[in-house]
Amino acid sequence: MDKRQHRMICPGCRTESWVRREPQYEGFRKTGERLSCAACGHRFESEAEIPYAGRQAPRVFREEDKPRPLQVFQDSERGHTCRYCGHYVVNPFVQRCGLHFREVQATDTCDDFSPKPAEPETGGETKP
Ligand SMILES: [Zn+2]
Repeated sequence: MDKRQHRMICPGCRTESWVRREPQYEGFRKTGERLSCAACGHRFESEAEIPYAGRQAPRVFREEDKPRPLQVFQDSERGHTCRYCGHYVVNPFVQRCGLHFREVQATDTCDDFSPKPAEPETGGETKP
């Protein structure tokens, strides 16, 4: 008798269990194995149906839990971010606002925003 025990996540009781194998006989001829969940008795028609642990990633994440792609700036928001402001000064050490003389982040927004003059739009993010 096959004593191998395969851990699997049973679709019947949804717990980590293992497969119980009982040889099936037709008369004296072994015709196969009866596969079932050791915990709840859920029947598997074939080896292929058994969701062995490890073969299939546990469904920790549901579809709605998936991280969403980072939200891109809305146009209105982007319009007031320091990055696109004419007062925005960036050097290798600090980003600051030339109007308020304070340190800013590229993603800060400002009420005194004035668009950068004649800076060609590259369209891509350029990292310093
Ligand atoms: Zn089960």
